[in-house]
Amino acid sequence: MAKRDYYEVLGVSKNANEKDIKKAYRKLAIKYHPDKNPNDKAAEEKFKEAAEAYDVLSDPNKKQRYDQFGHAGMGGAASGFGGGMNMDDIFSQFGDIFGGGFSGFGGGGGRGRRVIKGSNLRIKINLVLKDIYEGVKKKIKVNRLVNADNVSFKNCPHCNGTGQITRVTNTILGQMQTASTCPHCNGTGKIIDSKPKEADSNGQIKKSETVEINIPAGVEEGMQLKVSGKGNAAPFDGVNGDLIVLINIDEHEALIRDGQNLHYDHYISFADAVLGGDAQIPTIDGKVKIKLESGIQSGKVLRLKGKGLPSVNSYGNGDLLIHINVWTPQTLNKEEKKFFEKSKNSDSFTPNPSKKDKTFFDRVKEMFG
Ligand SMILES: [Zn+2]
Repeated sequence: MAKRDYYEVLGVSKNANEKDIKKAYRKLAIKYHPDKNPNDKAAEEKFKEAAEAYDVLSDPNKKQRYDQFGHAGMGGAASGFGGGMNMDDIFSQFGDIFGGGFSGFGGGGGRGRRVIKGSNLRIKINLVLKDIYEGVKKKIKVNRLVNADNVSFKNCPHCNGTGQITRVTNTILGQMQTASTCPHCNGTGKIIDSKPKEADSNGQIKKSETVEINIPAGVEEGMQLKVSGKGNAAPFDGVNGDLIVLINIDEHEALIRDGQNLHYDHYISFADAVLGGDAQIPTIDGKVKIKLESGIQSGKVLRLKGKGLPSVNSYGNGDLLIHINVWTPQTLNKEEKKFFEKSKNSDSFTPNPSKKDKTFFDRVKEMFG
């Protein structure tokens, strides 16, 4: 039988535009759709013929070749048209033709069952700053759902083992069948035939397992780490869910974290501020001794380079910023009181900040810089 002209198949003129071609095909696709014409070979042939015609005429390159050379221009099997289009190709076109939300007629074209993934498990893990500084390995007990032994399955009677349920709906384009995941078997096509008493309705039991989690240095509060495959198993068959680890960081008794930097409030006596001296500063992994110059002002920020935290995303550590706070005495004995009263009128006790003494705003810039 001679191949019919594609324009004739769609019932459009050679001058038809893209919109006319689409419209004509849509009409035919609905009219001859296999779901509307079960076991009708002639309808199926017409359906395929229309799909092939549309595939060529909707593609500017193919259309040009066809206009110039006719069917001969479409080549043989190499072009993919030698044996006509298969049903899956046709159904996959439907997204374009009927719009996004509509996924075609459900096909029945032998699409595979979807792979089921088990649900994710979530745990929270508490870390201290030292863990963040060095990175840490933690062993955590998790209760995972796993598939019980001695569970047997049979084909789901609701979807006959296909995992999909087709439903007829009325749309502006006429009656159509849509396919959706079978809710009885969650798309697996299988349901439980028999199971041990302790297993749940999915044939699963809870099993305690110790999972080792590698926590990289520099993690931050609220970050989530994923341990692949350590979540719940998929019922019946499929891939495991993931274990999601939420990072929670306990406050340090002295150091405050700000990204990669650490801040420490250091209090010194009025006398130390005047005379200067040594000070012990806590760090994450110990202590460090620093020298305070005599006459140091309250609010001064000293920076210990590299004594902050690493980052998960970059090399190098942040800094430890030491904020100097001069402690003003709140109670004085008679003698001390006399001393300060005497010094009230002394020039050396009168504030006289120079340009060198940083303003508050400069210090803030330095803190966050
Ligand atoms: Zn089912």
